[in-house]
Amino acid sequence: MKYGIISDVHANLEALLAVKESLEKDGVEEVIFLGDAVGYGANPNEVVEILSDWVKIFIAGNHDMAAVGFTDITYFNPYARQAILWTEKQLSFRNQAFLKSLPYVIKRGNNTFVHASLEEPKRWHYILSADKALWNFRLLDTPICFIGHSHCPLIFACHKNQVVVTTDKKVLLEDSKKYIVNVGSVGQPRDENPMAAYALLDTESKSIEIKRVPYNLILTQQKMRRVNLPSYLIERLTWGH
Ligand code: ZN
Repeated sequence: MKYGIISDVHANLEALLAVKESLEKDGVEEVIFLGDAVGYGANPNEVVEILSDWVKIFIAGNHDMAAVGFTDITYFNPYARQAILWTEKQLSFRNQAFLKSLPYVIKRGNNTFVHASLEEPKRWHYILSADKALWNFRLLDTPICFIGHSHCPLIFACHKNQVVVTTDKKVLLEDSKKYIVNVGSVGQPRDENPMAAYALLDTESKSIEIKRVPYNLILTQQKMRRVNLPSYLIERLTWGH
């Protein structure tokens, strides 16, 4: 069976639609979303509505929780804060209620899904190093954990307390190892590649692949400009950083 795992759409409708089309071509049966539907981009309501109709599992992200007053935004950078304050005003009552109902961690079969980290999921720690990953592997009781949050695709593999980090685009899963997979970001990639990112899990070939798709970036940027979102947030999409 094929699963699509996506994260960090950040109200980027064009990137979401491109990834949706690509996942349909991949023949996925289920899609899991790891959080941050909103924040940064110009289409928060549309993105929440498409995702909530489409995905099987919808996890809370820090920007989703910030937009409904469930997480502190004093630690957000000024651009992120400005975008959240704008997003708060746009969200329909129905979408606000939906975001408020989201879970932080979900386990299904071999997989655990969380936005940032298993260590205090509501405090949004980043897993960027082998040391941080090892701490999370100790908290992980399924073979695989899928995460987002950093917007950079990355795969950690753990065997007998040794963690190996890779940016390889495809990994064949070994039964003796556990994995933490950062699926990258649909709507605001930060790994110097502006194309939308997502992960494809194939349980038959036992593989995970990080895929990239181009989208109508110019239209996304025009819409952001029209509603006066910070120019830094608009320009970074061009470079993917
Ligand atoms: Zn994010």
